[in-house]
Order: sequence, then structure tokens, then C-alpha cells
Amino acid sequence: MANPSEGMLCAMKLNVTSYGAARTVTGSAHLVEIAGQRILLDCGLFQGSQALEDLNAKPWGFEPSSVDAVLLSHAHLDHAGRLPKLVKDGFTGPIYATASTRGIVEPLLLDSAKLQREDFERNQRKGRIASAPLYNEEDVAKLLERFELLSVGSPLTIGGVRVTAQIAGHIPGSVSLALQSAGEHMVFSGDLGNSRKDILPDPTPCEDADLVLMESTYGDRDHRPFEQTLEEFAGILKTAFDTGGKILIPSFALERTQDLLYHIARMEDAGIIPSLPVFVDSPLASKIEGVYAAARDEFEPEVQRYYTQNRDPFEPRQLRYTRSTDESKALNTLKGACVIIAGAGMMTGGRILHHLRNNLARPSTSVVIVGYQPEGGLGRRLIDGANSVRIMGDDIAVRGKVYTVGGFSAHADRTELLEWSKAVRGQISLVHGEVSSMTALKASLEARGQRCELQEPAFAMPASRSRTDE
Ligand code: ZN
Repeated sequence: MANPSEGMLCAMKLNVTSYGAARTVTGSAHLVEIAGQRILLDCGLFQGSQALEDLNAKPWGFEPSSVDAVLLSHAHLDHAGRLPKLVKDGFTGPIYATASTRGIVEPLLLDSAKLQREDFERNQRKGRIASAPLYNEEDVAKLLERFELLSVGSPLTIGGVRVTAQIAGHIPGSVSLALQSAGEHMVFSGDLGNSRKDILPDPTPCEDADLVLMESTYGDRDHRPFEQTLEEFAGILKTAFDTGGKILIPSFALERTQDLLYHIARMEDAGIIPSLPVFVDSPLASKIEGVYAAARDEFEPEVQRYYTQNRDPFEPRQLRYTRSTDESKALNTLKGACVIIAGAGMMTGGRILHHLRNNLARPSTSVVIVGYQPEGGLGRRLIDGANSVRIMGDDIAVRGKVYTVGGFSAHADRTELLEWSKAVRGQISLVHGEVSSMTALKASLEARGQRCELQEPAFAMPASRSRTDE
């Protein structure tokens, strides 16, 4: 006679279904069935193309009320941006996230709700078909009530599942997640950090597990050495300073902005560049400033040292945050060299557009591109050397200089992904990557004898050439 517990064991077998970030980068959402629990790993927005963004309003593919708990790897919108909708649609369980993730996700989601509302109103005014916002500020507030604390080094249990968070080193608060029940063990990498950079610690290498869901954003390439990136950045700042014009840097409000501030401050300290006025012209970055100070214990000891000396490591000598629209407009009349860091990082909107429109025609202006610019976008046209670009309805001559500095990515590269996963003997399923990246990484993993597959999505994902750079 068969052991009566066998059937039960079979029914409780580990199962993972991906409702996003499978064969594409964004929309991270993986539903894990383990030990009778239904646990959702991340609940992110699809981003990058209209076809992908249309998926955000589509049915989930599972019943939100049937999910027992959510584990959030980090605060980026492609991992957390659909959470308010999940709660709105019936999820009533806890959402486990680190303190820094909770701190960062609040301004990011409120900003996302505001942008969705503004988009909707603009489209309505212009008589275009407008899809309703996915959620509003009140939905974000309701979501935040569901958050519970997850800490690195303090495992928690959900039903019979033990959850352990480990350092992912991607942005403050980012973690990888291990889920263990009797006889089953899986790991979700979340997004893994670029260990060549020096503010956050390196990701903790993955332990062996039956199944590892691993991100593969840069599975097909290595970043250049970070010292080269900094040398090039310093050279551009010095040259731009000598021309006496504005230095415009489009940047994500989270991580990239703080990264730039940290290195500008270090270059000033070392006398590599002269001290110059630096404006962070982003209401969102201003809100994130406080979260960074609160996350100080997560930083590398070298960075923490500044706090013990009563210095903010992310503060060049002449730093100012401009919050109001009037303060932002006042930058137009400013004379002499200065750095203006503003969003959006991919130049899809935001205050950077105003600065580009007002300054691109001046030969003294420098535009420094430090992040990915999608095909067909304004940033890509500037990189490709366009003589004139259209910004907010005006044709603007490009007489300033455009520089591109690679290497600031917050993601692990090919070599680092291979290093992180080298102890894994079980199945590695690749997520969070374009098919070309995943195929290259799969070949590298198999070449050293590991078992690897591309995680299949629960429904077809539209083709996309986007690569998130966050
Ligand atoms: Zn991320």
C-alpha cells in the first residue's frame, strides 16, 4: 500500500508560475506554491513599450485574494509598481519588505500614482483614448498598511515556509530571498548589484538549492572597469567646467543620482575636479535623500565613515536640492558652470526636458548621459549626433556637447552573475532578461555543467528591445 502521505507530498510540490519578468525584463511577479502556501515574489509594473504597459491593466492570471503573502525583493517599480493594484483587487495578506525598501517604495509609488493621474488627465484634455490610472494615492496608503518587516539575518516563517533574506547589493534595501520547507528549497535572486561599484556591499553568493530563479539583465555582457568610468566622468566635468556652461545629467531619482553625488563629492575632496554648484532638480530625489541617510548601516564601511565624521557622503560642497517649480525655473538665469541632475533618466518627461530645451542650442552646454536610452527616444537621438531635436513641441538646435559614460549600471554583469550562482547544483531558471541575454547566460552556465532553463511566462510577453538600467 502506498504511503498515505505520498499524495499529500505530491500536492504540496514546489511550483513557480511567472506572471511577469519571464522572457522580458519588467513586470516581475512569480507565484510560488510551497508547503500549501501561495507566496508572490514581487509585483512589478511592465515598462518599456506600449504593448508591455498594456499588460498592467490586464487580469492577473491568478486570484489576488488567493495569495497568502508577498515577498518584495526591492523598491524599483518594475518589482513593486503593481502592489497597490493587487490590494485594490482583493489581496489581504502581509507584504514583507526590508525597512529601506518600505522607505523607498512609498515616494516611488506616490510619484507613480501622480504621473498616472497626470497622463490620464492630459490624454482626456487632448481627446485621446485614455486608460484609467491603475491606482491613486489613497490606494498607495492602503497598501502601505500591509507592510511587515523583513530583515537580513532574521529569518521569518510563512505557514511552514522559512524565508531568509540575503544582501543583493543592487539598491538600498534590496535582497535575495530563500524559501525553505521540509525537503524543498528555492532561491529568488531579485536584482543583483554591480559589485564593481563601491557604495553598497557585494551580493551574498547563492547557496545550493533545488531551484534558483536568477535575474539575467546583463547575462550577455560585462561592464567596463568602474575606475575607467570615473576617470572619464571626471574628464568630462573638467572640460565642461572650463567651457563655463551648464552640465545637464539626466538621471533616475533613485540610486543613480546618489551615485553621481557621491563620486562628485569624492572627486572634489581629492582635488580631481574643482568644486562647482550642483543642483538636484527633482522633487522625487529630494524625498529619497532622507531614505539614503536612514540606510547608512547598509553601506560599505568606507561610506559609513563619513557619517561618523558628521558628513553626508552624498553631498558635494555646493549641493542644492531644488524642490519647487519656481526654484527649478530660476536655474535658467544662472550664470557660469554648474551641474544640473534631473529626471527622467530616460528623458521621457520630467524637468530635464525644460533644461534641455533651454540650453541645448548653447555651445557651452554639456549633456552627460549616464544611463540607458531606449531606441527612438530623445536620449538616443542625442547620442546618435542629431543636429536638431524636438522637445515639448519645439525644434531645438543641438550645439552643446553630448557625452555618454557607461559603467554606472546597478546590475551585476555576466561574470558577476556566474560568480553568484556557482555553488548551485539544482535547476537555474532565468528571469528578468531579454531572450538574447538569457540565451548567452544559459550557454555559459551549461558549459560549466549546471542545469539551466529560460523561465516560461504564464502568458505570452510582447517582444521588447528595452533593457532596464535601474
Ligand atoms: Zn531593480
